[in-house]
Order: sequence, then C-alpha cells, then structure tokens
Amino acid sequence: MGEPGAGPDNAGPDNAGPDEQTADSNEAWFARARKVIPGGVDSPVRSFKSVGGTPYTVVRGEGPYVWDVEGRRYIDMVQSYGAVLLGHAHPVVSEAIDSAARKGTTFGAPTEGEVRLAEKICREVTGCEQVRLVSSGTEAAMSAIRVARGYTGRDRVVKFDGCYHGHCDALLAGGGSGVAALGLPGSAGVPASAVADTIVAPYNVVPEIDDQVACVIVEVVAANMGVVAPAGGFIEGLRRACDEAGALLIFDEVITGFRLGAGGATALSGVSPDLWCFGKVIGGGLPVGAFGGRREVLGVLAPDGPVYQAGTLSGNPLATAAGLAVLETVGPADYEALAARAARFAGGLGEALSAAGLTAQVPVVGPLVGLFFSPHAVTDHAMARTSVANGMYARFFGAMLERGVALAPGPYEAMFPGMAHSDDVLDAVVEIAADAARAISSGVTVSR
Ligand SMILES: *Cc1c(COP(=O)(O)O)cnc(C)c1O
Repeated sequence: MGEPGAGPDNAGPDNAGPDEQTADSNEAWFARARKVIPGGVDSPVRSFKSVGGTPYTVVRGEGPYVWDVEGRRYIDMVQSYGAVLLGHAHPVVSEAIDSAARKGTTFGAPTEGEVRLAEKICREVTGCEQVRLVSSGTEAAMSAIRVARGYTGRDRVVKFDGCYHGHCDALLAGGGSGVAALGLPGSAGVPASAVADTIVAPYNVVPEIDDQVACVIVEVVAANMGVVAPAGGFIEGLRRACDEAGALLIFDEVITGFRLGAGGATALSGVSPDLWCFGKVIGGGLPVGAFGGRREVLGVLAPDGPVYQAGTLSGNPLATAAGLAVLETVGPADYEALAARAARFAGGLGEALSAAGLTAQVPVVGPLVGLFFSPHAVTDHAMARTSVANGMYARFFGAMLERGVALAPGPYEAMFPGMAHSDDVLDAVVEIAADAARAISSGVTVSR
C-alpha cells in the first residue's frame, strides 16, 4: 500500500484522476475505491450506507487504535468484527507471521501448524474431537451443514432469524449483520431451491424439529443482531429437541470461540453440540475458519467418507501460526479480566447515555458488548429491528466517529473490546460517548 499516485510505479494512466493523486483524504481514497471495487468495499458491512458519510481508509493499527489516511487516530471498537483479540499489530502475532513466512507460505501438504491449532481447539472445546481447517467462517458453516446433511441423509436446516452464518446460499435467509443493516430479506442471486430446505425460526424459542431436519444451527450468544443472550433453557431445549428428532446441533462459534474464553460459548452454555463452526479469533487476523465435531460425525468427510470438502489454502501456515500465537498468549485470567473490563465499560456507557437523556440498552455477555437505542431489553431479531427503526444508531455512530471512536457502521454489530482495550481506553470511550450523547440530545451533532 502506498500513497495515492506516489512513486514511479503509479505513474502513467490508471484509475485515479489528477486530483485524487495528490489528495491524501478519505474522500479521495473512497472515490478511487468506488471506481474499481463495487460500492468501494470488499465486504458490505464496511460501507457507510446505513449510517451515511464516507468510510475512513485505514493505513495502520496498533493495539486498540487505528489511523486513517488523513492521519486521524480512532479508538477502534470494530477490531475486524471480532477477528482481532490481542489488539492490532501485536508483536507476538507479527513475529509469528514473519517467522512462518520465511519458511514458505503454502505447500499443499500437511504442516505442523495445522496439527497444533487443531490440537489446541480440541483440547479447549468440550466434546470437539476433531476439526478441519478452512479459510473463512462462511466455509466453516457451509461445510458443517454439508456434513450434517451427509451424516443424517436429511436435507432440512433450521436457523434462527437474525443469526448470521456467513454468505453461503442455504444460510442467507433471515440473516443478521450486513444483510439486516441493508434491510434485505435474504439475497438476490440465491435460487429459491437453495433455501427451500432452510427453515427460519425466531431466536430464543425452541422450534418443532421433525425427522426431516438434518441440523439446527445457532449462534449460542447472538452477536449479529446486536448482542442477544440466549434465554434460560433455550440451548438445552435445542439439544433435547435435536436428540429426540435425530438431528444434529451445530454451534456457530465464529465470534464466540476463543473470545468468551478458551471454551467459548460451549463452556458458557454447558451444552455440547454435534458440530462446531469457528473463525475470526482462531486465525489471529488472518483468513481462517474451522469446523469441528465428534470423530464419528466427521468420519463422513472425504477421504474416509463420501462427503466432499476441500481447500487449496486450508490450514495455511501463516494463518495457523498467527492463530496459535493468539491462543497461546491468552489464558483464563486474561479472559476474566477482559470480561470485567467489558462489564465496567457497558455499565459506564449505559449511564453516560441515560444521563444525557438517551434511552438505550447496553447488553454485555463476557467481552461482547451491544447497543440498542431501545427502552426494552432485546431478545430477538424482531425487537432488534424495532429498536433500530428510530435511526438513533446512525446519529450516535457519526457523533462518535467525529470524536475519534470507530464503531461498526451498522446497527446490528457488537463492539469488540479486546486485550488491548485497557480501562483507561474504555473510560475514554465512555467520556466521548457522554459528549456525543449530550450533543445529540441538544440537537447539535457537530462537536465544538
Ligand atoms: C463472521 C461470521 C461468520 C462468517 O465468517 P466469515 O469469515 O466472514 O466468512 C459466520 N458466523 C458468524 C457467527 C459470524 O459472526
């Protein structure tokens, strides 16, 4: 990454106009991006479509901070939507990647790193006996569903409204995250036949499961419709209903895995599913996903069984090195301390908003912090949608960004305080939120 138009490599005709070649601004970079990247972003959740304004173009990050092309520093609550746990550019991770890169980046043969990462996951997650590594959370969920269908010989998949499991066709119904932020019921380009066997049920209610259902997939702690905790008995009820119907239970722990603690949401719920999906934290900021399960279930996978699944870069040495570096750096005490900081932060944020006269809920589960501008606690997607309808999130987002705090530019995302967010940093966020909230209340949204 260089500066726009700087240096002889960029001389001559390209996509940037003469003005953009000299202007080092977010506007110029985004204009340039829009010419060659649809919507200017490589993932729609990064666009500012639902909040308004121009995205900041990041040049670097360190710990809890990111800097944009204009040299502005933000306290970053996005942390790559939960892929980053130790903070940006943590030396342990950078060194692990650097050292792995010097030995070669990919081989198409087994490596030590993938074995070590798989061992680590199986050691920490109760009931997970094997994992296969892939390159994204989407691939993990897609593959877990294929395994469930192959294992049971059934086609139907039950998912919950507002839960997001990546963008594979069969799971793009009733999705949270960017699908919800853009107000899409699902996605164009997905044939009706691809979702014909997908049943979408309301979160926090145990649905009827019959003998045509291959699997039930769930975010144990929902973190893509804001943060919504599972109601008491919900997860246990799913386990029971699946057992009675002979269906498999899948925990999508792409966000919660190694973020709530090493045991993830599995440890929190005390329930073990038949299959797991992992991603985000386990890649240490590089592209990784994994799906795991009981040995007997994963036995259907090729080469031993008839369910095909593959990947040229699966178990990539750089990604496994980065992931392992993270998982080996954090221990139980770190997770406990993080959850305590997150709880203190959530309390402070809730007080600051209400002191300024804004009605808000700040749910917190372990280190996951949500924000709904709602008078009621939110327990499902319908309530989350209602709370978002007042447009308050967009105003708050803009007022925070202006004051140097980067929240996700969508109302259904969690905040991700991580190991680098000290109490001091989080207190600064609360103070800025108080100022932003007062400005919104008094109708003045521009600071100073
Ligand atoms: C992010 C996410 C995914 C998709 O992972 P990608 O790496 O973006 O493909 C799946 N499930 C959950 C719960 C997620 O939060």
